[in-house]
Amino acid sequence: METTKYLLPESQIPTHWYNVIPDLPGPLAPVIHPGTLKPVTPDDLLPLFPLALVEQEVSRERFIEIPREVREIYRLWRPTPLFRARRLEQALGTPARIYYKYEGVSPAGSHKPNSAVPQAFYNRQAGIKRLATETGAGQWGSSLAMACSMFGLECTIYMVKVSFSQKPYRKSLMQLFGAKVIPSPSPETAAGRAILQRDPGNLGSLGIAISEAVEDAATHSDTHYALGSVLNHVCLHQTVIGQEAKAQLKLAGDYPDVVIACHGGGSNFAGLAFPFLADRAAGKRVRCLAAEPASCPSLTKGVYAFDYGDTAKMAPIAKMYTLGHDFMPPGIHAGGLRYHGASPLVSQLFAAGEIEARAYVQNACFEAALLFARSEAIVPAPESSHAIRAAVDEALRAKDEGRERVILVGLSGHGQLDMGAYDAYLSGNLEDHEYSEEKIREALARLPEVDP
Ligand SMILES: *Cc1c(COP(=O)(O)O)cnc(C)c1O
Repeated sequence: METTKYLLPESQIPTHWYNVIPDLPGPLAPVIHPGTLKPVTPDDLLPLFPLALVEQEVSRERFIEIPREVREIYRLWRPTPLFRARRLEQALGTPARIYYKYEGVSPAGSHKPNSAVPQAFYNRQAGIKRLATETGAGQWGSSLAMACSMFGLECTIYMVKVSFSQKPYRKSLMQLFGAKVIPSPSPETAAGRAILQRDPGNLGSLGIAISEAVEDAATHSDTHYALGSVLNHVCLHQTVIGQEAKAQLKLAGDYPDVVIACHGGGSNFAGLAFPFLADRAAGKRVRCLAAEPASCPSLTKGVYAFDYGDTAKMAPIAKMYTLGHDFMPPGIHAGGLRYHGASPLVSQLFAAGEIEARAYVQNACFEAALLFARSEAIVPAPESSHAIRAAVDEALRAKDEGRERVILVGLSGHGQLDMGAYDAYLSGNLEDHEYSEEKIREALARLPEVDP
């Protein structure tokens, strides 16, 4: 069978990021200061982020130029390939045409360096010496560690404790790139100490690790904070993915009926889907579907409300789909999808009915991932397997209906450092955690009262 791969020349690495803000269905909701409960001003954010990123966070320019230095590093792995999944189509016996955009060719093996590199660049330009961040499964941590090493910055990473045992080689990768890795909750910050005092065996969560990293940055003048998802500027940086995919589908002479990506904090979904939503805003018919874990279903089971970005209530309050800032998701293998909230931009589009969302349990995702690996010879990251599950379901539906359908799916990363998860699946030891309705209800009772 023919292998179909659509490559772009380096000259077609996008020159601009696409900013969805001017194309949103309504005005951007304000972001609220966690202390004063008033809208944040740029001055509030400058202890954490360089001015260039603060400006991008609220920019109304539709296209923002990518600095030459950033494109120079993007060249190491961009443009990434787009494949037609012919063998998967055949295995499913579907009339659908399935294309996947593969971000696993980056140095960290995922889409995350697309934002890590510009974040390190703008911080370096602003004279910052060190970046503090959090990481769940270690994908973001290894991306930022790599980017910091490119620009000569120090990097401190608070890593969710449960991932320390599940993903030991991600920690090694961060250390190899020169970062300091601290298991979170840690005794190094007041936020970490407070949690350990209450619950010494706490296995951590992204919300807690964010609190620690924000505190670290806020208490050191030479240090800024970096976030790997959720924020507007992170979604912005990821739009190189969708822009390239559009150009590649043009080479294939196709256009998607549905665009599918997994959703943790939302930047990966945003990166692939937003450039297609621009077409939708211009009248084109295209569906965009976010695939999330059933154990941490912020879009499908959360509420659209103002909530803290972190557990210790130090990060700004944003209007987003949330399960509650102290919701503790179970330790599923798709660590990169264990965030209580969602990107405010993705949330606003979901609330307006511009995008769809579905939730999947882990075993169903790994089943699809295995079929994908055996058909396409790429081992998907556990996070990406959610998107593959959704794509397989769409392809099977097309088969049932006896209809053609063009499916574009984001393969956000490879799973070669996630073999523990595959071992658990293959030995039948993977548990399907449904979300706990009661736990969500409890966590939602603690939302802040904000009336902007
Ligand atoms: C982090 C991660 C995700 C989730 O990304 P978000 O942008 O937060 O939704 C998806 N896939 C992989 C491989 C990841 O590392």
